[in-house]
Amino acid sequence: CGIVGHVTSAAASSRTLDVLMEGLGRLEYRGYDSAGVALVTPGAATVAAAKRAGKLTNLRQALVEHPMHDAVAGIGHTRWATHGAPNDTNAHPHLAAGGQLALIHNGIVENFAPLKAELVAAGVTFLSETDTEVAAHLVARAYATSGDLAEAMRMVSRRLHGTFTLLAVHADQPDVVVGARHDSPLVVGLGEGENFLGSDVAAFIAFTKEALELGQDQVVTITPDSVTVTDFDGNPAEGRRYTVDWDAAA
Ligand code: GLU
Repeated sequence: CGIVGHVTSAAASSRTLDVLMEGLGRLEYRGYDSAGVALVTPGAATVAAAKRAGKLTNLRQALVEHPMHDAVAGIGHTRWATHGAPNDTNAHPHLAAGGQLALIHNGIVENFAPLKAELVAAGVTFLSETDTEVAAHLVARAYATSGDLAEAMRMVSRRLHGTFTLLAVHADQPDVVVGARHDSPLVVGLGEGENFLGSDVAAFIAFTKEALELGQDQVVTITPDSVTVTDFDGNPAEGRRYTVDWDAAA
């Protein structure tokens, strides 16, 4: 339902967690039944994730119990359930590859059933009832063969039917967040020494008004100082640059 992503050069700070929680708060207007975040810290073997059914205050409480500072990248999600009950397990992010990869998703993966059957046959264990979890495992497996998160996202985007905005992070590439969109919106927020992703500009309007709207069927890779856009085949592509006309004090 609501998506936010962030990557920063400011190591050993709570910046990413602060940005994600601010963004999720500003995306609340869309309505949601659960929320979660995943954070990447350099040198960590796995991403750290927290997710809770119910209001953001439940997620905030979980984060007080399990603090997650020192991250340099992260993704956050508010879920409006379409496949699977609104509970903690079905909330996003969904993890794969033993917790090395985390993924969030807006929309519906129409062909999740055959993809899930293929993954189960290959020995993958599913924890949730969501359509989204197939994308998490597929991206993790594509990463294992390509060694590149953006290429993994492109490989999987070509296989998914339905509507999706996807964001993924991987413990092996701590300063990278990759996003993809098909019939679902995704906007980049351009910062200095940091960059943002959002399902709409509300996700990052507290931090920057400089935006890059992605076109249909594009994959974007953000690092603290770069934004790279391609189509699903890996050809260079461009988004639409604009300045958000909106009072951030609102
Ligand atoms: N279809 C996904 C789910 O039910 C994503 C829903 C959403 O867009 O929040 O988990």
